[in-house]
Amino acid sequence: MPFCQTKCTYCNFHTGVVSSSRFAPYVDAVCREIREHATFYERASVDVSRALGALTVDSLYIGGGTPSLLDPAHIASLLGTMRATFAMNSPEVTLEADPETIAAEKAAVWVAAGVNRVSCGLQSFVDKELVASGRMHRRADIYRAGPILRAAGIRNISFDLIAGLPHQTAASWRQSLDELANLQPEHVSVYLLEIDEGSRLGLEVLQGGSRYSARDIPSEDDMANFYETAQEHLRAAGYHHYEISNWAKPGYESRHNLKYWRRQPYLGFGAGAHSFAGGNRWANAHDAADYVTALEDSRLPIEQHEILSAERALEEELFLGLRQLGGIDVDKIERDYSVQLASRFDPLAKQGLLERSGNVVRLAQRKLSVSNEVFVELLR
Ligand code: SF4
Repeated sequence: MPFCQTKCTYCNFHTGVVSSSRFAPYVDAVCREIREHATFYERASVDVSRALGALTVDSLYIGGGTPSLLDPAHIASLLGTMRATFAMNSPEVTLEADPETIAAEKAAVWVAAGVNRVSCGLQSFVDKELVASGRMHRRADIYRAGPILRAAGIRNISFDLIAGLPHQTAASWRQSLDELANLQPEHVSVYLLEIDEGSRLGLEVLQGGSRYSARDIPSEDDMANFYETAQEHLRAAGYHHYEISNWAKPGYESRHNLKYWRRQPYLGFGAGAHSFAGGNRWANAHDAADYVTALEDSRLPIEQHEILSAERALEEELFLGLRQLGGIDVDKIERDYSVQLASRFDPLAKQGLLERSGNVVRLAQRKLSVSNEVFVELLR
């Protein structure tokens, strides 16, 4: 759902601020893509019929953007279309929701439609940081939204925080972590602020400007320290760190996210949605208006399609697998891909970037905050 109320300064997603009159045609187009996905793939020469033959869905994820902005009847319509199209196996059904958009009436419809997990982008509990980042919610909205979700029957809540927002300090970061832990969500994601030209804030930082509080973002060293503080706080609060950016209470690891890192098949519907099945990766056009127009013309606007080579698939096994703190099973990968990996791993292990124990290789615990640099070395 590529729609938001405003554009956060750090956002590098393809989302737009549009009139709510555009939501219904968009949802209609997505429902059509879901219903007729097999025909659309065939027309676009994405050959996944064998991979999809016996597909059973155990995870649905409605993300954005801000899908909680939609009329809840739209969410019900999407989930109803999914159930009418695919075989289901007790799916985890996640809806992304921003705190200020959560209301009791909406939450009741979400739950009746099958939503059983809500993921909230909180980012911070400090209003000064939220204001500077262009977020619409404030700390008070978080305390209002949490009880609404619980009262509606949501037993699986995920909260996101961002380390590196403008004005963030070691003390304010600890405050956000403490307040989050007190609310006891089942799942937590902590992301480091990304500085790139894809966001207004990132571009301003790269150009040395001062708009969007660009001169008030913490240093890279501070961000790395914030990440380590999060590791300590969340461990002490009973969370299991299972992926570079994700922590969960036992049994609440995100099924949806695990599929990406384990390279299990998934289908994405909607503008900018990515899919992976049968060795194919493909993505729909990002522009919501182009997407709707194409669906009205009975075609799927696929703008990227890659049939993975064995080398590319192996690279994915390595960098997606190593995102998980459990590490990767080297023997299995060597067998599956007929390769020897010692020459890739040994130099990095000597530098203290990777750790090997038996047939398992994992990122060194103290290198998690610089994982991208390790992956660049690994795939060099
Ligand atoms: S709510 Fe999320 S998707 Fe929307 S602008 Fe903000 S960061 Fe981007």
